[in-house]
Amino acid sequence: MTKQEISIGERVFRIYLDESQIQARIRELAAEIQEQYTNTELVIVSVLNGAFMFTADLLRKLDIPCNLNFIRVSSYSGTETTGQVKTVMGIGDNIAGKHVLLIEDIVDTGITLKELLRQLEAEQPASIRVCALLVKPEKHQVPVHVHFPGFVIPDAFVVGYGLDLDGQGRNLPHIYQLKS
Ligand code: 5GP
Repeated sequence: MTKQEISIGERVFRIYLDESQIQARIRELAAEIQEQYTNTELVIVSVLNGAFMFTADLLRKLDIPCNLNFIRVSSYSGTETTGQVKTVMGIGDNIAGKHVLLIEDIVDTGITLKELLRQLEAEQPASIRVCALLVKPEKHQVPVHVHFPGFVIPDAFVVGYGLDLDGQGRNLPHIYQLKS
């Protein structure tokens, strides 16, 4: 049975999106993505750590040839962004001339996405599109465009399904929202 509330340290979270809602939306996203890349070989760049579970589920539903790479960045401390994006691990493969789909867990201020796009564009791919499981438009501080958004959500901290609070909660199959 789905837990309606969970605690991480002192903080209490309530259920926001359950596993079946997430998986249903991922099936739709996979269909939308497939439609856009019919005759092209796709290079997926997944952003660690948060997007690992989303990437695994999305890729299993994508029935097109694709190559998978990971990039690792860090910018958060607790529930607040530091505004400084650190690339902890870069992508190994050459993406010049390739069609790239960047997979993010959540776009909040947009600062991470903007910096990632800057780094990837410098390698001159043929195209870059962005797929993010969650998007918080109210929190955007820089203009960013998400081509394939999973869910548009309000400004509240979430955990689960890959997303953490100080390293905890990534293994939860559902997404939980911080209780105010
Ligand atoms: P941004 O640079 O857009 O502010 O934040 C991007 C990164 O911050 C995300 O990839 C994610 O790792 C983290 N982040 C932003 N909002 C949340 C949130 O509500 N919950 C969690 N767990 N991480 C978040």
